[in-house]
Amino acid sequence: MQTQVQKELIENAIERAKLFGMLNYLPDGNLTHTPFSLSPYSISNSELNEMIDLTTHFSELMINVSQNWDFLEEHLKPIAKNDHFIRILLDLRKKEVTQNKQLLIQRNDFFLVNDEQINCNKKNHKEFEDSSESILRQVEINTVSVSFPFLITQLARLHKYFYEQNKLKAIIKNNPIKHVVDAFANALEEYNAKSSIILLIAQSKENNLFDQIGLEQLLWDYHKIKTVRKSLSEIYEICKLKDGHLILDGEIVAITYYRAGYSPNDFIENEAIKGRQLIEASSTIQVPNLSIQLAGMKKIQQLLTKPEIISKFVSPEISKLILKTFVKFHTLDDIINTPGGNVSASEWVSINPHEYVLKPQREGGGNNFFGKEITNILSTIQKSNFNTYVLMEKINAKTHPATLVVDGKAENLSCISEVGRYGICTAENGKVINNNDIGYLVRTKSKNVDEGGVSAGFACLNSLTIN
Ligand code: ADP
Ligand code: MG
Repeated sequence: MQTQVQKELIENAIERAKLFGMLNYLPDGNLTHTPFSLSPYSISNSELNEMIDLTTHFSELMINVSQNWDFLEEHLKPIAKNDHFIRILLDLRKKEVTQNKQLLIQRNDFFLVNDEQINCNKKNHKEFEDSSESILRQVEINTVSVSFPFLITQLARLHKYFYEQNKLKAIIKNNPIKHVVDAFANALEEYNAKSSIILLIAQSKENNLFDQIGLEQLLWDYHKIKTVRKSLSEIYEICKLKDGHLILDGEIVAITYYRAGYSPNDFIENEAIKGRQLIEASSTIQVPNLSIQLAGMKKIQQLLTKPEIISKFVSPEISKLILKTFVKFHTLDDIINTPGGNVSASEWVSINPHEYVLKPQREGGGNNFFGKEITNILSTIQKSNFNTYVLMEKINAKTHPATLVVDGKAENLSCISEVGRYGICTAENGKVINNNDIGYLVRTKSKNVDEGGVSAGFACLNSLTIN
């Protein structure tokens, strides 16, 4: 039961969320507030600092991986035989370099785990036995269409208003949108063309629209930069190439920012593929470019958990810091050493499905298989298609109580929280120029929910506080 004071707080918070543009479309077309938590997630200073340090290391790793096309092709080409989306992406590659500058906007997602899993990791990775453990376990790094920089900044304002005014909690400062907007402004200046614009590549139906138009608004407010939203198919219809530039209605597109193009649904029409080809042929700064997008694939994540592979891309010191945060990965045809002898990973996971997450090469939420779903889907996957999936050990995150507010209703639940750190990295021909951590995203959800999306209604936006 909620007290009168709690009820008023919840009602006020919902109104303030609307005031700040924290809005989402429901499937029926109605508007509601973005789901949010009223219980900031509490972590220690050292946990926070470890996460912040890791951001720049992971950005460097992604830039370096993206520069090695042979590596990406070696491991993704076999998958492309069975996965038409990967084939579409690989076929987009152009041999000639049309743009030397790279702008990476990434978010690296973690869970914080309990002591049991820390010890388990030490047992699995002999190389960590004598080193300090980490409480962080990476879920994945997102290198394309990194969402929520606007809405999470608005939530930090909302939390600060309520908690700091009542001297309850100090919310850890969070303003990633400002850094994203400034990074775009710098890149636009570097592109060095008079009166150029940003092209935001959008899905035709977008539930998370307000996160995107919030960004567009601030680009105009802070820097007088114009953004145009178009789908890939529309781009094919209305854009053209002139002297290497991508031109839209007579204006030069300095930056193409992908909030679409990460899902096969964005390439159903042939015109969409042609739209992307047009972009690839131009000198626009793509956020991200094709190889940075591919470096964020789940197959690449699985490979980078191997010490001999990650060490090709970053120093031994950085490898060690990153490896500490990885759980075990397998391919479905791996042989696993179990107490009962050697078995194939596919057999092992069908007996122990609750210990794993099965992931295809997809982004955007709702594509992974958990628990019983794994057993069901495995019986339908042909062995020749095994390589399109990776099998990831399930992370058991620490639980905590939280009040979650979804579509006007509040509920007190036992929850888990996924913390993402946003990073921006600029590079030229793969040489890192600027590399920074720029803030965080927290998504809190009931501990019984497996998937994680906020727009999909699984999770609630949240802030951090120090315990
Ligand atoms: P996507 O690229 O579709 O967002 P993710 O790898 O981020 O896919 O997984 C989606 C969600 O599933 C995550 O936000 C997280 O809540 C959950 N999840 C993914 N991997 C694991 C894991 N190994 N253990 C527990 N939960 C996971
Ligand atoms: Mg992702």
